[in-house]
Amino acid sequence: MSTTPDPSTHGPLEAIRTRIKSVAVDAGRAPDAVTLVAVSKTFPVEAIVPVLEAGQRIFGENRVQEAHEKWPTLRETFPDAHVHLIGPLQTNKAKDAVALFDAIHSVDRIKLARVLAREIEAQGRHPDLFLQINTGREPQKSGALPEDADGFIATCRDEIGLHIAGLMCIPPANEDPAPHFDLLADIAQRNAIEGLSMGMSADYHTAIAHGATHVRVGSAIFGIRTQHP
Ligand SMILES: *Cc1c(COP(=O)(O)O)cnc(C)c1O
Repeated sequence: MSTTPDPSTHGPLEAIRTRIKSVAVDAGRAPDAVTLVAVSKTFPVEAIVPVLEAGQRIFGENRVQEAHEKWPTLRETFPDAHVHLIGPLQTNKAKDAVALFDAIHSVDRIKLARVLAREIEAQGRHPDLFLQINTGREPQKSGALPEDADGFIATCRDEIGLHIAGLMCIPPANEDPAPHFDLLADIAQRNAIEGLSMGMSADYHTAIAHGATHVRVGSAIFGIRTQHP
């Protein structure tokens, strides 16, 4: 794993970067308004290295254990790589998560927020925290229901003392995602929250038009996943 003097290119990554900029500009936003989180879950380090070599530095993983197996090694070569947790987090893994991740997009309940606050205090590490909102009210998905969002945010901030970097949602698979993105943006705006983690390979352009600050794009960069989702 040696870094070449000339930055190498990665076709799909380049295409997505270009598209992100142009969609942002078309929406009247700055070309660099949107952070691309390259979702490398299920992909081995050999698939991730070319994306790092092409200059991408922010990655998403959905399992603490898997991230632990891949990223300490990758960070030896790419110390400025950032890794974001985008999947569900059990409270008994909160300690590892605070130690390992630069951002956690899946803070979905008060109990987890409390445990994270304790770990942040104990470790002196401050990953960016995004609160997950279940905009589609789907029973199988995590996150606060939309009507509970303001209370969840207030508890995390005022009672638990967390800084909230943003909100996150995963719209229902077979629905127009736009109303979900708008709902998340409304909740963020009325609570003066800046970050909006929304949009995946199929809908990141729509998410950007609706205000996304972070898009989580996996298969469009790395290809089809054959392992767990
Ligand atoms: C897997 C995953 C993504 C990326 O999905 P793609 O469709 O491959 O872009 C984004 N967000 C979350 C929460 C995920 O689990």
